[in-house]
Amino acid sequence: MAPQNSAAIQARHQICLERASPLPIGTRLCFRCDRFKDLSEFRRSERGLFGLSARCKKCEKDCGKDWAKRNPEIYRAGERKQKRRYYEKMRRERPDELRRRAREQKRKRKGKLREYELKNRDRVYADKRQRRKTDEWQFKSKARTALWTAIGRGHLARAKSLACHDCGKPAQHYDHYLGYAREHWLDVQPVCTSCHGQRAVDRKELVRIKD
Ligand SMILES: [Zn+2]
Ligand SMILES: [Zn+2]
Repeated sequence: MAPQNSAAIQARHQICLERASPLPIGTRLCFRCDRFKDLSEFRRSERGLFGLSARCKKCEKDCGKDWAKRNPEIYRAGERKQKRRYYEKMRRERPDELRRRAREQKRKRKGKLREYELKNRDRVYADKRQRRKTDEWQFKSKARTALWTAIGRGHLARAKSLACHDCGKPAQHYDHYLGYAREHWLDVQPVCTSCHGQRAVDRKELVRIKD
């Protein structure tokens, strides 16, 4: 284990000075990888000798990786936090850039899907036809169309502008909670993705929810 406190670091440097004199000018010994490296290879550090960190940048990076391996949960939590902060900042300061990226990603996804469909044409279309023939699909797609029409005409607010009926978080979809029969086409409740998924599981639905 490498020494951590600055007294130990200084002692270590004393040894270096004796061992490697003259000290290569403009370099510093990294106490982790034990190599002389250019000063620019060291980060600034107030605690370190000469105001530089005792470990070279590469070793610091490796240490970070080791630590992440030892503490995967803390690391992931930190990552999530950082990501959240980043997106909060982006939403505040550069919402247009975010929208542009979303569009780009969507375009890429679509392109890939299209590529796959072209390559596996027969299978994909057979699957699609099969799915569309099922009563469940017919049922649902009509209900969805009716819902979209109602939203488009302003009879219903967009689900995303409402709160989830079950948990109160921002909603993503409308759930046809009374089923897809014609008289219930507009009997919907706003739900978030996870609550919608939970409802589908409770109802033992098999088709993926999209509306
Ligand atoms: Zn090093
Ligand atoms: Zn919810």
